[in-house]
Amino acid sequence: VDQEISVTEVLNTFYERIDQVDDSVRAYVSLTRDEAYQRAGEDLTGSLAGIPLAIKDNMSTEGIKTTCSSNILNNYRPPYDATVVKKLKEAGAIMLGKANMDEFAMGSSTENSGFFKTHNPWNLDHAPGGSSGGSAAAVAAGEAAGALGSDTGGSIRQPAAYCGVVGLKPTYGNVSRYGLVAFASSLDQIGPITKDVKDSAILLNAITGHDPMDSTSVKIDKPDYTEFIKEDVKGLKIGLPEEYFSLEINSEVKESVLTAVKKMEEAGAIVEEVSLPSAEYALAAYYIIAPAEASSNLARYDGVRYGFRSEQASNVSEMFTTTRNQGFGDEVKRRIMLGTYVLSSGYYDAYYLKAQKVRTLIKEDFDKLFKEYDLLISPTTPTTAFKLGEMSDPLEMYQMDIFTVPINIAGIPAISLPSGFDSAGLPIGLQIMGPHFGEGKILQAAYTLE
Ligand code: GLN
Repeated sequence: VDQEISVTEVLNTFYERIDQVDDSVRAYVSLTRDEAYQRAGEDLTGSLAGIPLAIKDNMSTEGIKTTCSSNILNNYRPPYDATVVKKLKEAGAIMLGKANMDEFAMGSSTENSGFFKTHNPWNLDHAPGGSSGGSAAAVAAGEAAGALGSDTGGSIRQPAAYCGVVGLKPTYGNVSRYGLVAFASSLDQIGPITKDVKDSAILLNAITGHDPMDSTSVKIDKPDYTEFIKEDVKGLKIGLPEEYFSLEINSEVKESVLTAVKKMEEAGAIVEEVSLPSAEYALAAYYIIAPAEASSNLARYDGVRYGFRSEQASNVSEMFTTTRNQGFGDEVKRRIMLGTYVLSSGYYDAYYLKAQKVRTLIKEDFDKLFKEYDLLISPTTPTTAFKLGEMSDPLEMYQMDIFTVPINIAGIPAISLPSGFDSAGLPIGLQIMGPHFGEGKILQAAYTLE
């Protein structure tokens, strides 16, 4: 029997689920119930008609609070929609609410949110990963049909891995960053977090495409990514970067990824060990380049133009400092200090310029490999989700990005998909990397593995 269910009924189901579980998961910073039900009454058409989604709270939504989970933006309502938000609306999607994140997307656990921590739905004592932890947790807990996250050094893929969902970081320039609150502009990219690979392709279709409002958005013919949703890896050449597997990684994670790789071999793929010699410098380069760009991007939060302004000041320059001092959390301050330091005259050549040179080497390493190989495979993260509060040393937290950061440095696309569970019942993530604009191939391999 053909049974239609109305968009309002769909929304009821999702908001009921949110009411049931979000007190313990805490995926959402704000819910947009009224707007959602109002849209449900409209005539929605498009590839995502009536599909309820969570949007990371660093994407601008017209008239709706966009906080970046920071106290400095706690009351900021953008006067316009980010291009991705506009595109989702045009495709008929409905926003359920804005998802929690590490403040300004700086972190790997969502513990750096200025408001509250998000919990991993598989085990509430564990972190959901970050910085798009709210988006990944919402999808994993059934609190959204899909979500958007942003990824500067792993923030889509790492939480997707920890939460057992699919997260795709597109090629730099494939998705418009217009309206995405900038963290590190040369690395930031928006992408889908979904339950499965097919949904990932559908969401990606809706958000890609050239945008004149973003000068780094690339003009290319837009493929239909759902055409790659077929099981076929015959003849595909896959490289396993040996540097990634020889590092100290959890043995269950390694085992699970190697088992998946074997499955691909059985399906006809050719798998070989390869070398990415510059990979070991990626993390060091990232934690110079990202804070440098962040320190510049965050200069705009001065108490004048956006959101929060401290009342405890007697003159303008005191107002700047107290606003920033009270508005930013510790990690954001740490990045601003790191960033201004590496950009300061006298240190610029030694740190920033050096990091940019390393960046070129990393990109060349990948380019070379992709002349010979279609895709590369690695674990997404060295371990499964750690416990909330366990990672007290920021440097230890930075290590969580070791497999994801090189991809942003090179600007290439990569997906994280579930590859099983560890003995504690926590999800394991596998990462597939491809050449620039190789999202189609990545999706096809991921779909075959799923
Ligand atoms: N965890 C990394 C950082 O803290 C990456 C964050 C991200 O991708 N936004 O910078």
